[in-house]
Amino acid sequence: MPFVRQNTTINEYQNFVQEIYRLNNDRFFSPWDMLINVERFVARGLKGIRKEDNDKTKLNLLISFSWLMSMMNQFHIGLENEVWKRFPFLCSYCASCPCSCEKKKVKKRQKVFIDEKKRPKTLESFQDMFRKIYPPETRTLEHAGIHLSEEMGEFAEAILAYRGGHEEDDFNNIPLEAADLFSCFMGVFNSMGESIAKELSVMFSNNCHVCENAPCTCSFKAIAEFKS
Ligand SMILES: [Zn+2]
Ligand SMILES: [Zn+2]
Repeated sequence: MPFVRQNTTINEYQNFVQEIYRLNNDRFFSPWDMLINVERFVARGLKGIRKEDNDKTKLNLLISFSWLMSMMNQFHIGLENEVWKRFPFLCSYCASCPCSCEKKKVKKRQKVFIDEKKRPKTLESFQDMFRKIYPPETRTLEHAGIHLSEEMGEFAEAILAYRGGHEEDDFNNIPLEAADLFSCFMGVFNSMGESIAKELSVMFSNNCHVCENAPCTCSFKAIAEFKS
């Protein structure tokens, strides 16, 4: 009976998604279909922000986050390493913690130096790291949501470029954009004051959160018509 622990690592969570959803993903979904689902549930999460319905936002962003993990599995990208390389306890753009992009009007991406000793172990401690780099007090939940949708668009562009040309340089942008998107999921949960690891451990306490089977046996129709 696979489940997600509250002190899960990002790698463990990605492996959990593989164990539960790989069969359905391989049979039903192309990368485009998966991308649509990442976007579909981000959009519903944003609707939750507009309606001031945090439960709706949480549920839909957790589903979207899980689709992102499915995409990472399909592309054989280990997201935990990519997030750490991109955000080694520093803003990936201004290379400081807390981020000083706005204050210092940083116009060019700065080189980041990685101090392995600072690397968080669990998903929860990664979320905590993002809280320190991008303190939620400096912006509203709506602002965090807009940033999430921007990064969603950039991730989609990276997929479009790679799927069009199949060039290695374009492939290499996918993990970078996935790490940025990951940081924005953290940002919204930090703005809501919620722990994404805790919520995942409740949602995935026993196999697929809908059919409760491992691997998931949800039908394509049930997935395509899922209400949330
Ligand atoms: Zn910054
Ligand atoms: Zn299922």
